[in-house]
Amino acid sequence: MDRIILGHIVTPGETIENGWIGIQGGVIAAIGAGTPPAAAEIFDATGSYVMPGVVDGQTHAGSYGGLPGIESTTRSAIAGGVTTIVDMPYDNPAPLNTVERLREKVAAIEALAHCDVALYGTVMPNQGTGDIAPLIEEGVVAFKISSFESSPTRFPRITADQTHAILSALAETDIPLGLHNEDQEIVRAGIAAAKAAGREGIGAHSDSRPIAAEMTSSAAFFELGAATDAHAHVVHFSTARGLELTEQYRAMGHRTTGETCVHYLVLDPNEHGEALGARMKVNPPIRPDARDGLWNEILEDRVAFVSSDHSSWPIDNKFTPSIFDAGAGVPGLETLLPSFFTEAEQRGFDAPGLTAAQLCERPAKFFGLWPQKGGLRPGADADITIFTPGEHVWDSAKAHDDLNWSPFDGHHFAGRVTRTYLRGELAWDGTAVLNAPGAGTYARRGFSRWFD
Ligand SMILES: [Zn+2]
Repeated sequence: MDRIILGHIVTPGETIENGWIGIQGGVIAAIGAGTPPAAAEIFDATGSYVMPGVVDGQTHAGSYGGLPGIESTTRSAIAGGVTTIVDMPYDNPAPLNTVERLREKVAAIEALAHCDVALYGTVMPNQGTGDIAPLIEEGVVAFKISSFESSPTRFPRITADQTHAILSALAETDIPLGLHNEDQEIVRAGIAAAKAAGREGIGAHSDSRPIAAEMTSSAAFFELGAATDAHAHVVHFSTARGLELTEQYRAMGHRTTGETCVHYLVLDPNEHGEALGARMKVNPPIRPDARDGLWNEILEDRVAFVSSDHSSWPIDNKFTPSIFDAGAGVPGLETLLPSFFTEAEQRGFDAPGLTAAQLCERPAKFFGLWPQKGGLRPGADADITIFTPGEHVWDSAKAHDDLNWSPFDGHHFAGRVTRTYLRGELAWDGTAVLNAPGAGTYARRGFSRWFD
């Protein structure tokens, strides 16, 4: 073996206490309990959890800084134990909707990335479906559209008829179509009503984008998915109700899935809104009293996976007099694993097992990256995260994302990421990111399927 790591080895379905994992040639060679085989190097992480590298299923690396944003985003990922990001297509100034743009982005990944990067593609208004098959051929893992216009040129609204056409084009494939799920007219009317009433703080944010906006958009989308027999995926449900709807469609035999993000599981405007204000503004909004229901959905296996929805907005974008002018989205790659693990542990759940399932195994399977990614098993890439228990207070001044703000500042986490290996190479040692830009590579969609 090139390298042996000792610790609690979190494998799919089972944590081996005081076990070992052996790495050879960048892949996992063997896993076991008891005396390990001989190796050139032994790293003793006894007492720590040795986990699969996190696969973050929803990252926005280039929404602000464009393709150069890949460097700081993936540097932050590696420091957070994230070894693969699945990056969204809404890059600044133009989204990934053609093979030409895909190739530009892949070139940027190969030059700049500290972790592996899989890619979403999109379809722009009136584009037609002719670019979908070539993008699949080039390895995109999914497509994403929005029912709400965040930006006319970068993040536009796709109408129901075009959504229908895109789903039809994807129906014969395993490729999901992800939806940003908010109804345009309900949201715009809600914002106008809040402004007219003089309500422009974070408390008005959730009311202005009510659950009805999320649910009508999601229900219409699932119905189009059912009509075309395609895989319809909602990328962020903020309440359990959305996941219950997903389950009903699945029970009828349709390929529907729903995802949630870690901030919906950890934050509540009633508890954190006053201190955080726009620092917790995301769309759809973080709802009051939604956390218990969402955790229950996770325990019921009705959440496809949990993601960070990391957005690379500088804090200036949040300092606006009105909540409605502040940018939506929060940084979250370095806090994804610790915040999820901590909340799961505080709720009395199997935190290592749930973390490995929701942040690693399930997203890898979902995006066709399993079994190469997402699980500690022989033959898989040696993408490994070491999570060391012990109270750790998050301080975004020490983050690696060049953003240095976070809604989790001051949170007491139950541990920290003390090492990250990318394909067998030590990339983060708990203090510094050691690998060079370009050590990460483009991760094409493989063969794992979510629905059989
Ligand atoms: Zn997102």
